[in-house]
Amino acid sequence: MEKYSITRISSVSELDKFNNAENKRIINLNNNLITLKLKVIKERFKMISKGEKVYNYILISNDSKYVQDFENCIKAMNIKDRKERLTFIYDTACDYVDGLFANCNNCEFKDDKCAVNRSPQHQYEDMGCCRSFEFTGIFQKEMIKNLKLCRYAKSQTGCTTKNLSCKLFTCSYLRKKGIKFSIFKILLLSCFLNIKERDIIKYNFFGSREELLDRLLNYKYCPYIWWLFRRKYKADIEY
Ligand code: SF4
Ligand code: SF4
Repeated sequence: MEKYSITRISSVSELDKFNNAENKRIINLNNNLITLKLKVIKERFKMISKGEKVYNYILISNDSKYVQDFENCIKAMNIKDRKERLTFIYDTACDYVDGLFANCNNCEFKDDKCAVNRSPQHQYEDMGCCRSFEFTGIFQKEMIKNLKLCRYAKSQTGCTTKNLSCKLFTCSYLRKKGIKFSIFKILLLSCFLNIKERDIIKYNFFGSREELLDRLLNYKYCPYIWWLFRRKYKADIEY
């Protein structure tokens, strides 16, 4: 059972209702990501420095578009177990990105072919960009080799797993349309993941949700330099 509580109000004038509330944390939200990150850091610090203290969070939304994100951050900071917390962060970020894409058809899919698949000069004819490949040497005629359809790509159902790296990926076609995701623009990811965890999320395409979560959990004690070296010389997910 959750010990803390979160209440949303829309303006300061509603604060009177909470005059008698104990251990309240009144947080004024806005649309500035940097100040919101600082507020999350402050709340985490407060929580860690005061030990097990339980708070009643009162969020003044002020029409901030990040209210739900901030609520998710409070939920995450209240999950003590690292595995549970990372799983919550991972799944919530997947749902968040799915929500941004829902009903947009940014990739302009028609008959299983995205806009890039339909362009004449492109290598793949369907299934978007769900294919892995390796670059050949500079003196080779072909630029790429070992082109393989991802094992989680199914023509009837699409992707059968939840891979956050893939969800955050935007090809040059989408970037030219002005569509780009950044871990730093998702409050939950930018506040709760360290540099190594952010790299894991950024670069592990073609793996399953469980594989990515395993990597997030298992590299806790691996120094960042060693992690970078390993990433450079060994693909993290076998595909
Ligand atoms: S990201 Fe680009 S290549 Fe991949 S499915 Fe969308 S439009 Fe196609
Ligand atoms: S894991 Fe990634 S590459 Fe594989 S099917 Fe899903 S979205 Fe495509």
